[in-house]
Amino acid sequence: TAIDLEPVSGARVELANVVKHYGPHRALNSINLAIEPGEFIALLGPSGCGKTTALRALSGLEGIDGGEILIDGEDVASVPTNRRDMGMVFQSYSLFPHMTVLENVQFGLRMRRVPAAERKGRAVEALDMVGLAQFGSRYAHQLSGGQQQRVALARALVTRPHVLLLDEPLSALDAKVRVQLRDEIRRIQTELGITTVFVTHDQEEALAVADRVAVMREGVIEQVGTPEELYAAPATPFVADFVGLSNRVAGIATDGTVSVQGVELDMLGAPIQNGEVTAFIRPENIRFADDGIPATVVSSSFLGSLRRTRVRLGDDTLLSVQHAVDVHPQIGDTVHLQLRPAPVSAVPR
Ligand code: ATP
Repeated sequence: TAIDLEPVSGARVELANVVKHYGPHRALNSINLAIEPGEFIALLGPSGCGKTTALRALSGLEGIDGGEILIDGEDVASVPTNRRDMGMVFQSYSLFPHMTVLENVQFGLRMRRVPAAERKGRAVEALDMVGLAQFGSRYAHQLSGGQQQRVALARALVTRPHVLLLDEPLSALDAKVRVQLRDEIRRIQTELGITTVFVTHDQEEALAVADRVAVMREGVIEQVGTPEELYAAPATPFVADFVGLSNRVAGIATDGTVSVQGVELDMLGAPIQNGEVTAFIRPENIRFADDGIPATVVSSSFLGSLRRTRVRLGDDTLLSVQHAVDVHPQIGDTVHLQLRPAPVSAVPR
């Protein structure tokens, strides 16, 4: 083909003090986020935290009530959606049912009055990029869910936008296809260098795919960081609880340390008042040992490369322990636990 999909330069995207309310409800309560050109950012949070609202505000589908959205430094308040140079993919397969795959992908080019011959070439290339070059003459109902989302991705990218917005694009797909398409989105995104914002409520998905993750809660961003930073050093207890698995364990805070079951651990995040706390301990930071904290095995599940065992302490606290698959705890067994000296998050109790 004549036209190749040369890398597009990703735009710099910035949300500055963005506020959006629905009646009295503040869906976005002064959001600040600077996304570098070519960066892949995940907006992660529980249902209703404002992720979709943030994405719709970026796209211009939703107006904002305060603050600014800047694309390459330009305030886009008065720029309508179709002029914001963004590609979008949504959760539900939004292909036009009466158009073939090729016509679907060409749609954005037709709107931009690109000549027919060039349109076709570019659409074929975009389909090739998502591995569906042979499927141009099919209709949506003749494709699997994963294939439909690939077409939606091709359709979003064919106009060579500088920003790609993805709203839970994988959540309707089954587990295996979800991981495949996730990795493929990441590959294509890296090749094109397109700035990407990916909305998800699935922490594993966010950690796996993004350069940085912005964790949202009730209309605010709690923390922005690389997956490694969020996991190892959650800034707030909410992040510790939401990102990765954490056990909730009673402890006593004293001047930046927390004592859990007689073990002194360093505390992460902002200092909190001395006294009774709930500490968040990762399953991999608890191990079986010959002596230590006694516990009773409640259940044990095989997870392929590791095993996760639930145990109950004397005070009825339930803990998840992650360990090698060749250790086989039996339900009802008495085991002993030791805590690794990893820093933990804690909240007052
Ligand atoms: P989900 O994953 O469930 O879609 P979300 O994090 O994307 O959640 P949003 O869709 O951004 O959340 O919604 C944020 C809050 O704003 C929610 O409390 C929601 O009920 C409210 N909201 C969203 N859209 C509207 C609307 N058009 N009118 C009134 N309230 C709205």
